[in-house]
Amino acid sequence: MIYECEAEEAEKWIKENRLRRVLIQAPPGLREEMLKLAERVSRLAEVFLHGGSCWGACDVAFSEAETVGADGIIHLGHARFLEREPVPTLYLECLARDPRPLRSVLNEAVEGLRGYRRVGVGFTVQWRGFADLILEELKKAGIEPYIGRPVPPLRYPGQVLGCAYTTLLGLSSRVEAFLVIGSVFHGLGLALQTPKKVYAADPETGKTRDLEGDVDRILRSRYAYIEEFKSSRRVGVIVSVKPGQYRLGSGRRLAEILRKAGKQAEILIMNEVQADYLRDIPLEGFVNTACPRLSIEDQFRLEKPLLLPREALVAVGELEWEDVLRKPDYMRMEVA
Ligand code: SF4
Repeated sequence: MIYECEAEEAEKWIKENRLRRVLIQAPPGLREEMLKLAERVSRLAEVFLHGGSCWGACDVAFSEAETVGADGIIHLGHARFLEREPVPTLYLECLARDPRPLRSVLNEAVEGLRGYRRVGVGFTVQWRGFADLILEELKKAGIEPYIGRPVPPLRYPGQVLGCAYTTLLGLSSRVEAFLVIGSVFHGLGLALQTPKKVYAADPETGKTRDLEGDVDRILRSRYAYIEEFKSSRRVGVIVSVKPGQYRLGSGRRLAEILRKAGKQAEILIMNEVQADYLRDIPLEGFVNTACPRLSIEDQFRLEKPLLLPREALVAVGELEWEDVLRKPDYMRMEVA
């Protein structure tokens, strides 16, 4: 395991806050760490493990904790996302401790970035402890690296999330290309929102990738789904109740716009947005106001369009495809 969860911090937090019952939640990939932590802190408090999904720090199990009377949540693998919490929550970021996999992908990444001088650099929270090392390695290769300032929900300079890239998009006028350290998933979210070259480096798999081909393929298929949505009459606007994805105002606004365009638009309240549930509802297309990545990574599971809010605005003629194509607000989920 290249990530290590800060168990002492959890023990200290439980003791200081005199917690009696805690719910531990972890994303896939950190479930083993969750078990180890549970064993360690169970002498301090009653421990429950969250057995459901945990896709990001937008997805904290507050309602489950409230139902079982937990007085604290320990959430692994993510930095704080939300500004307010109904149940006190400790975020254990589980940072990477071994720089070797990072050094190795960086060597490959600088080869791919040859010819670019000024490069914006972003990383997932797990690699933030090695920010200086990343900058040093890039400078050694003759690259001038830039790290951007965070805007919430981002918390750290250079940090990226699959739905938040202000640290990098804010550097657009100063850099020629971008390097995202984390995974192809994290790099793709940026590459869909900028015309500049994006290189993704994944220290866990040891692979690096130029994302140009992926972006081209995805955007062609997005356009085809927009076209299909245009001819649908009965559609659903998905509003998720996950704490960091809840956008009822945007959902209502989108439904209104779609109705004005002649569609029957219904608002669907969901927790897990799964293709099986959507397939069961006899609607011809959907607009997603939950996690933007559902429209990118999960679309293939569903035969019907699952559009982003801006794609839906293109479908009804409120925006042109060129207005959103590889633009910084392509994945913006709020609709004013
Ligand atoms: S909204 Fe999606 S991409 Fe953003 S943190 Fe949540 S799960 Fe990750």
